[in-house]
Amino acid sequence: MRRPWVGGNWKMNGVRESNAALLDALAAAEHVASVDTAVAVPAPYWQQSSDALRDTAVAVMAQTVSPHASGAYTGDCSVAMMEDFKLAGALVGHSERRQGVGENDALVAAQFAALQRAGLTAVLCVGETLAEREAGDTLAVVSRQVLAVLELMGAEALASGVLAYEPVWAIGTGLTATPEQAQAVHASLRAVVAAFDAPAAQALRIVYGGSVKADNAAGLFAMPDIDGALVGGASLSAPEFLAICRAAG
Ligand code: PGA
Repeated sequence: MRRPWVGGNWKMNGVRESNAALLDALAAAEHVASVDTAVAVPAPYWQQSSDALRDTAVAVMAQTVSPHASGAYTGDCSVAMMEDFKLAGALVGHSERRQGVGENDALVAAQFAALQRAGLTAVLCVGETLAEREAGDTLAVVSRQVLAVLELMGAEALASGVLAYEPVWAIGTGLTATPEQAQAVHASLRAVVAAFDAPAAQALRIVYGGSVKADNAAGLFAMPDIDGALVGGASLSAPEFLAICRAAG
């Protein structure tokens, strides 16, 4: 059985005061022991988050990472910096970075590799745009995005992280993929990995992201290949995020 994983992606939201309220609520909550829980927070708040969630069941992550160890990379943050603040890992390949900042498959694979080599968790985000879905290219797009990491790192390395299927048209739009639509893509992604290594494919957590809320989470988690969620907007509310975590347990 795969252990469910639920992550909150705060994106570029929050300041110290609002973070403190959210972090205190997460730290005080009773967490479902059977679910791995994390929040991916903006870099200026790594310290605040890591202090507030120390000795709790909630891990702190970054939202992206440099593939380089150190050097002349203005604005980037390294794996070593994440280790310095006791972060558990980072998201890589979120669509807002693929589209907004031009991160491509090769860069995302290198980011995954940098985290994996340090023993940190990489949450690899993949997903198609609405135009790609309407053109019937969903599986081609998400397979290509996963293969970039599989071919560089192998299936066991991929399975040491988390794969997040996030259809771009469902992110922040209130439109959620139906449980059946998401399940179909998750099963196909697992088959792509199984072609490399069947046990690794069985072990790999594949979580869904895109307008996950407390009231649609249970339906998604009931699907056999949906192993949790990456939650954006709803993760900014502690009661909502905690309800999603409970639904995964
Ligand atoms: P959303 O974002 O839940 O606000 O749709 C999900 C994500 O981008 O990870």
